[in-house]
Amino acid sequence: MAPSKRLLLLIPATSYRTADFVEAALSLDVDLVIASERPDSMAVEFPDHLLGLPFADPAEAARQMREYAARRPIDAVVPVDDLTTVVGAVIAEALGVRSNPVAAVSATRNKLRMRERLAQAGVRCPSFTAFSADEDPQVAARRVPFPCVLKTLTLSASRGVIRADDAAGFVTAFKRIAAILAAPDVKDLGPGTDRILVEGFIPGRELALEGLLDGGALKTLALFDKPDPLDGPFFEETIYVTPSRLPEGVQSAVRESAAQAAKALGLFDGPVHAEIRVDPDGPQPHPVIVEIAARSIGGLCSRTLSFGTGMSLEEIILRHALGLPIASLEREGCAAGVMMIPIPGRGILQDVAGLEEARQVPGIEDVTISLLKGQEVVPLPEGSRYLGFIFSRADTPAGAEAVLRHAHRHLRFTIR
Ligand code: ADP
Repeated sequence: MAPSKRLLLLIPATSYRTADFVEAALSLDVDLVIASERPDSMAVEFPDHLLGLPFADPAEAARQMREYAARRPIDAVVPVDDLTTVVGAVIAEALGVRSNPVAAVSATRNKLRMRERLAQAGVRCPSFTAFSADEDPQVAARRVPFPCVLKTLTLSASRGVIRADDAAGFVTAFKRIAAILAAPDVKDLGPGTDRILVEGFIPGRELALEGLLDGGALKTLALFDKPDPLDGPFFEETIYVTPSRLPEGVQSAVRESAAQAAKALGLFDGPVHAEIRVDPDGPQPHPVIVEIAARSIGGLCSRTLSFGTGMSLEEIILRHALGLPIASLEREGCAAGVMMIPIPGRGILQDVAGLEEARQVPGIEDVTISLLKGQEVVPLPEGSRYLGFIFSRADTPAGAEAVLRHAHRHLRFTIR
């Protein structure tokens, strides 16, 4: 019998999520169509299943998909990463399938627009000002508070995010970000790549919230603590551990602020990933939204999550988009952690030692190196690729964190 529903996955070439989403899709009774920006070499063999779509031109991508859907109707469109959320919403709207409004998704992909929308709606977020990237940074430095955080409008994974504590630091950071914006791969991202956003620095602890919106109601799937301080000057993400160890009152304030932010932007359907700062020692937690995105958690971090009797986050996202039943949105009982392996320096990756010892640490589920030997390793703020991931499970969050640190101590990278 032919599968009852047809699913379109939009997968950018740089995605870490391809295998996990494809595996989840293949476990469902769906006709799977995969689109990427470059047609796959196998596309000739499977012309209806492997498509090349111009992700950078959403209107044209939607036109091509309308033509396709006239022959083979599509029931759900799932963008798997930041880079395809906007084109995904445009295609979904053109096909009349479940999606967030294009304007809401577009606002999540432009940090200045996101700040403006959140501020207008009264959602607590940092003070902000934007500058043209060719403005004189000495002059710009007179108009910002210190400490502050300079960032691009469109990049992700902390690329091009720098803290400055004084005018001299501001000028250096500004020039460094302007150089990142001038790189060819960044210029191609189009609107917004000619500006630099400057925000007041928000002190405190940072959490990540993974959630699913259903008709505007936000269900929190997991709340992650980030136990390593993220105080700059660069903001390399390292450890995520769930469940959070913060008091329930703080956690509920965090959930509430993510829901407010989603509502303020007009997001009401599908996955959301939010980064939120709190001062857990203050009289009130007062969460501050650093960022909210209309997608699920990045890198391979979703592998920490398992729901009900073992459903992956990717399967939940696909089932939600297809309107298929989801047995449970409750995360499994134990604690889980992931370490995005810190990048020790810039150069060419020559060797990785200690992998087997790291994998054998009790509580370690897996250690994955995502760069190949011979590839360039680039630290933040310029870098955009992860070195690798360590995954743990334990009875307690403290245990999941300790096991990650223990395994990491076994790894030795030779970078020249
Ligand atoms: P990206 O989308 O590249 O991850 P973000 O704006 O989320 O960019 O910033 C990356 C990280 O930098 C955040 O997770 C946070 O740790 C830090 N950061 C960003 N803006 C601020 C701010 N205004 N105050 C304090 N920390 C910030």
